Amino acid sequence: MSAAVLCLALATSACAQPTSTEPVLEDEATRTIAITIDDLPLGGRPHDLEYQQRVTRDLLAHLEAADVPAIGFVNEGKLDLGGDLERPARIALLQQWLDAGLDLGNHTRDHPSLFDTPLAEYQQNVLEGDPVTNRLLAAQGDSVRYFRHPYLNVGPDRETKDAFEAWLEDEGLIIAPVTHDNAEWLYAFAYDKAEDDLALKARIADAYIAYMDTTAGYYQALEQELFGREIANILLLHANELNADHLDRLLEMYRRRGYRFITLDAALEDDAYRSEDTYTGRAGMSWLQRWAIHRGVPLASEPVHDDWVNAVAYPDQ
Ligand SMILES: [Zn+2]
Repeated sequence: MSAAVLCLALATSACAQPTSTEPVLEDEATRTIAITIDDLPLGGRPHDLEYQQRVTRDLLAHLEAADVPAIGFVNEGKLDLGGDLERPARIALLQQWLDAGLDLGNHTRDHPSLFDTPLAEYQQNVLEGDPVTNRLLAAQGDSVRYFRHPYLNVGPDRETKDAFEAWLEDEGLIIAPVTHDNAEWLYAFAYDKAEDDLALKARIADAYIAYMDTTAGYYQALEQELFGREIANILLLHANELNADHLDRLLEMYRRRGYRFITLDAALEDDAYRSEDTYTGRAGMSWLQRWAIHRGVPLASEPVHDDWVNAVAYPDQ
């Protein structure tokens, strides 16, 4: 769905605001968003260490060049994918995040979904998800504070959701919600599949930025509908080659929309995050959509990804 069609469908005032044509100066930016990057050290299909080192280096270079705070969510099971010999080099990738002044959080050890994993087993995977990250953070006087649910799945039912959240609080971990959810992972998977086809990769990158621009408009309209104001947002991205190559363009798109980048700590100070959320089920989605469901607010259709990008990602479908 195009931004224009989406705005017609939503018919809200947010759509009348300037979007991506007029640059907004940093100190005039009123919108805020925290960047969160999942599946560290690397999302998507397995790749060799050299590739992971390249992706990590370039991803962090974009964040440092733009002076943007971010938090990365780690799956420590991935530290073992290259065996004992490569483990120190994979741990070093996490250290690079801290050396860049960024934060790290727990995303479980093996990325299970709470929807179909028994609670005790899932909790064990959380406990095994951050010993290395905690050791690295302890060396600088910090510890892991945030947890991100894999697939944004908070459980199959209220009983599981409530039990897990109480347990998480006892463990001293804070849930990191997402307001700007998207199909970035699909564009990244297609980009990865394109391999050495540089023309195709360039087309995917252009489509990615345009798609993310449209999703930003969708969530801006939804936050107005729910709160009548702009809230502090939280964007979900993943550690992948697409962002390693093009994160600067994505950050620029958000800047053009009037956003400045804040930490997850700062975003969560917004009272919007104290909103009641009772959604459970198979779908992972934005917390804006969960709050809408809880309040009985009808949801407009999400912006759809490009079909041709899906075909590149999954040629056999
Ligand atoms: Zn994940």
